[in-house]
Amino acid sequence: MDFINQINNNNKDKINYLNLLNSQTKLNNINSLITDIINITNSIKYDNSTIKYNILSEQLLSLKDSYIQKDIQNINIDIKNKENILKNIFLQQSSKIIKTLPDLINSIENSYQVDNLNKILLNSEKDKIYFKDYNINTSKTTKNKNLIGTIGVLGTFNHSKNKRENYDIKIFNDLEDETFTCSCCDFKFNSKKKNTVCKHICFVICKIGKIYDTSFFINKKLNNEHLNILINKLSDVNIYNDKSIAKKVETFNYNSFFNFTDYKENECSCIVCYTEVLQDEIDNNKCISCPKCNQIFHKECMDVWLEEHTKCAYCNNENIWIHFDELENDKDKKISFV
Ligand SMILES: [Zn+2]
Ligand SMILES: [Zn+2]
Ligand SMILES: [Zn+2]
Repeated sequence: MDFINQINNNNKDKINYLNLLNSQTKLNNINSLITDIINITNSIKYDNSTIKYNILSEQLLSLKDSYIQKDIQNINIDIKNKENILKNIFLQQSSKIIKTLPDLINSIENSYQVDNLNKILLNSEKDKIYFKDYNINTSKTTKNKNLIGTIGVLGTFNHSKNKRENYDIKIFNDLEDETFTCSCCDFKFNSKKKNTVCKHICFVICKIGKIYDTSFFINKKLNNEHLNILINKLSDVNIYNDKSIAKKVETFNYNSFFNFTDYKENECSCIVCYTEVLQDEIDNNKCISCPKCNQIFHKECMDVWLEEHTKCAYCNNENIWIHFDELENDKDKKISFV
């Protein structure tokens, strides 16, 4: 019976026939997809196969139809199983081989990810990224129940702003989603699109954790063993002693200019007028100190000095005294510098 005749029959038959035809087309599609899956399973490169698996799963789901629902479910389970087997083989292989950052970079296929990893190999002071602090999340509200902690990092030096940018990297213990998020633009705009993690997250994984785990750069999830290694390193106070990784951020406010703990009677002269600073002058608010070097000056002398200079009269620090007026006008304000 041909199709035209079939449509000319009563409505019920027509619909049934169309349904059948539709379903058959779908089944054919699925068969070709299964062939694809088998081919991919047999290929070795895990990177590309994972992406293809995901696309195939999506296509299969879009074909959902009461006739073939069971088939699709079985196929999806099959895909997941194959994917897990591959993932495990891959994990075993990569964790054995890779011991250094250059080796890790060589074994990654995603060129955008390679670019980001190369950025943390740059060695000039302005290109470097630094660890600032780590705060463990203690408030487990429903909103942040998966948040383990927040890592503060200092980005590369921004010449137009004359400072390093601060970024927050959040660590999540979430089985479904990525382990890290970063507050930088690259993370916001590119990480999903290019399937990468930004250079700040690369820094945390490779420089702080010394974890060279290829699979992390594919699924963006750190396994439990590696996650524990990283968190232990972040929580260890010795991290602040490693000058190649950590930078101490100093914060100062108006009160920081009035720290006289270094004062010793008969041993302290004002470097501007070369006259001795007396205890009486300190007690009567006639003195001021440099927050960086703790040198004590007469307030009047420093006023004169600052009319002509921006640096400290003793230690030559450039970043502090330029903020003095600003902090005097807003005594709650804090300024950080590194
Ligand atoms: Zn970032
Ligand atoms: Zn003086
Ligand atoms: Zn000074």
